[in-house]
Amino acid sequence: MDEKVESFLRKAYREHYFKHHDLVEVPSKMASREFGYIPFGGGMIRHLSFKNQGELFAELVKQAPSSVYCSNAVYERPTLQMDEKGWRGADLIFDIDADSIPTPCKAAHAWWFCGDCHRGGTGNKPGRCPFCRGQAVEQMHWSCRECLNATKEHVKRLVDFLQDDFGVDPQGIRLYFSGNRGYHAQVQDERFETADPQIRTEMANYIRGTGFNLKAQDRASGRAELGWNRRANLYLAAAAATDSAYPKRNQKLTNQIIAANAASIDESVTTDIHRVFRMPGTLHGSSGLLKMRVESLEKFDPQKQPVVLSGEAVTVKIYYSPEFFLNGVRFGPYDSSTVKIPIYAAVYLLARGLGAVIN
Ligand SMILES: [Zn+2]
Ligand SMILES: [Zn+2]
Repeated sequence: MDEKVESFLRKAYREHYFKHHDLVEVPSKMASREFGYIPFGGGMIRHLSFKNQGELFAELVKQAPSSVYCSNAVYERPTLQMDEKGWRGADLIFDIDADSIPTPCKAAHAWWFCGDCHRGGTGNKPGRCPFCRGQAVEQMHWSCRECLNATKEHVKRLVDFLQDDFGVDPQGIRLYFSGNRGYHAQVQDERFETADPQIRTEMANYIRGTGFNLKAQDRASGRAELGWNRRANLYLAAAAATDSAYPKRNQKLTNQIIAANAASIDESVTTDIHRVFRMPGTLHGSSGLLKMRVESLEKFDPQKQPVVLSGEAVTVKIYYSPEFFLNGVRFGPYDSSTVKIPIYAAVYLLARGLGAVIN
């Protein structure tokens, strides 16, 4: 990313934090959390601590970082190195990304971009760029409606596991749009605060359906109306209703039940008790969209509400992009195009290295 693009992005983010720092959701036990950020230009700065929200807001305006993070853990001494921090517990966190959910439409809207010659094309990325023969080819995705809805479906499944299987109070589950193509959940429940990575791994495996087996389920003494048994029985009842030959309890059926019920969470996030996690109410570094609280999944439109940057028009050069939708507006497709578009759309593309600032 060239310096002009960096300074354009920094300016847009700074203006946002100057005007809208009220959108930042300050964590509980703030003084015991570790904060970190990635500046435009790269490099991660960690082990920071802020005593109050005023200190944090001032730093956001001053640095205008690309991404801002806060630990899921609380520590006695958050600014020290990891083994000296004095870990006191961590919120249970989950990450569901659109990329991890297999949707049939994916291939239809895959595209690629060459970081060397700045050209691109549709479909899966070639081994070498057909234009410059370089290898800096990156696979890109824009999400379609189908992908976005499938992602929401997995969030609903996760909430179902948390409430029904783990007995979490709905009030303790906070859902967020990640600011890019997924969702985060943060669980505040005293019972899990001090859970070690092993316990969190077991929870993650359970939610992902790892180890569920229909044959074992038959013999298990577990109650039919609980957990995976309940999900399997619902699935079997529905299958029996549409197919008079009762389905055979084989591995294929087990896999179908898992695919229909498991939530595709990123296990490495949930098991990490020292994670610095994107801070709610801050901008995503690759999109300029807000990581924001989602009160109603049904009503939430990830291509609308998180668009918080200025709509003021700016002239930029876009190297390449298939069409995409933001804030109810259709943009693109672009191919070496000089365009006048709102700042939020320019940031969306430039933050991914897809364009340049004019003059
Ligand atoms: Zn190339
Ligand atoms: Zn799709």
